[in-house]
Amino acid sequence: MQVDPRTAVPTATPRPDGAPLRVAVVGAGPAGIYAADHLTAAGDPVQVDLFERLPVPFGLLRYGVAPDHVNIKAAGRAMGAVLGRAGVRLFAHVDVGRDVTVAELRERYDAVVYAVGASEDRRIGIPGEDLPGSVSATSYVAWYNGHPEGVLPDLATARVVAVVGVGNVALDVARILLRDPEELSPTDVPQDVLDRLHASAVTDVHLLGRRGPEHAKFTTKELRELGELGGVAVVVDDGQLPAEPPEGTTTVALRNLAVLREWAARDEPPPGTRRRLHLHFGARPVEILGTDRVTGLRLERTDTGAPDTWDLPVQAVLRSVGYRGSVLGDVPFDDVTATIPSVDSRVLRDGAAPAGEYVVGWIKRGATGVLGTNRSDAKETVRVLRTDVEALLAARTGDPGGIEELLTERGVRWVDVPGWQAVVAAEALQGRPHGRGRVKISDWDTLLAAALDSAGERSQR
Ligand code: NAP
Repeated sequence: MQVDPRTAVPTATPRPDGAPLRVAVVGAGPAGIYAADHLTAAGDPVQVDLFERLPVPFGLLRYGVAPDHVNIKAAGRAMGAVLGRAGVRLFAHVDVGRDVTVAELRERYDAVVYAVGASEDRRIGIPGEDLPGSVSATSYVAWYNGHPEGVLPDLATARVVAVVGVGNVALDVARILLRDPEELSPTDVPQDVLDRLHASAVTDVHLLGRRGPEHAKFTTKELRELGELGGVAVVVDDGQLPAEPPEGTTTVALRNLAVLREWAARDEPPPGTRRRLHLHFGARPVEILGTDRVTGLRLERTDTGAPDTWDLPVQAVLRSVGYRGSVLGDVPFDDVTATIPSVDSRVLRDGAAPAGEYVVGWIKRGATGVLGTNRSDAKETVRVLRTDVEALLAARTGDPGGIEELLTERGVRWVDVPGWQAVVAAEALQGRPHGRGRVKISDWDTLLAAALDSAGERSQR
């Protein structure tokens, strides 16, 4: 086994017949694309087929990262380059489990890598969670990012909004609620989203952490951004911040506390304040109030040691308490961790973790870590897969036929890389009437038409 000095990933022993190792990656989000990247970076004979349920690739990069985080979104360029690499094919708009089963992939590929992420929302588990006006952050994020399955959030009339949770997603949604929408105009946010954000009635956002600020999950750079929003006053009560950080407080938490102290010391709201962000810690939600729709949130103090509840009058609650993975076909699933159980990145099936099935990203680790975490995670998964190459090739049986034939036989029309490029071109045109650059297409049929009509034209050439 050799090691490629650029990637530190063991390279596959070349096969005498030069036939490539065939790897199916299920999910073309960041983890799946990074896995394809590591698999093909060393230039080995590897064929990587990326399967994606949506008509377009990039998963949470496209549909999770907030539109104003342009530096993170820029990772799409490098991901696009991976899709353009020899040995990488895209099969978007293919639902593994419905259009093709996991077993059929396992028959056709030497290895299958599950990179399906975690797209469901965790529940708080309190009464009133399903009232109109109680919206999960996952669905709000999907909407403002133009996800083709996104639904219009029930927030149109809300003036005061509670955001439950103090992770980075909570900061994202609070920022989008508070930011001057004009600042989103240069981004690819869909036009109808922009129009609705312009019409928003929101004046106050309350961000609620159930524990002390030293336990908040957000990172300092993201926290700091909230204090830099034009026309937004940040309200923090100094009394909520510990006089001395408890022993064991992490470096990130110490930095967060310093930012919060700086904000608490501000005397006056900045001139031209239009909106306010209120931060609360030690405030655990116990009930979302209302009969026909949300009218308030009942909170319990967790920092005083005494039973003490109070009601916050709000017209909407955004529940931002984390993401959950979900079941994929007959692949094992741990309902507690909402992950595919694995040992050293190999899927644990019936008490064993043999070569052939692998996991990467949130479906392996749970919904934690930033974008770059998936890059190193993918490197580790690919390292393990590489160590199995001999066994994988030795286990090859007869040829059950190619995936393209199977999908065609079933009438499945998939989106390939040129189809995705056609979507990019169509999105560039979308912005023109509004004097904007590229603007996302958020409608499923329009996305498909852009991708697949171009396939028809290409095949006729
Ligand atoms: P998260 O970081 O796990 O935060 C979840 C928050 O919800 C925590 O504050 C948690 O509090 C709270 N929570 C959980 N159950 C609750 C309950 N029943 N009642 C009240 N609060 C509850 O999850 P996330 O914000 O969804 O982020 C997921 C991952 O994506 C994170 O790794 C995040 O860093 C990453 N991300 C990164 C960026 C970025 O890099 N800019 C942007 C977005 C997301 P406890 O701690 O008390 O459980």
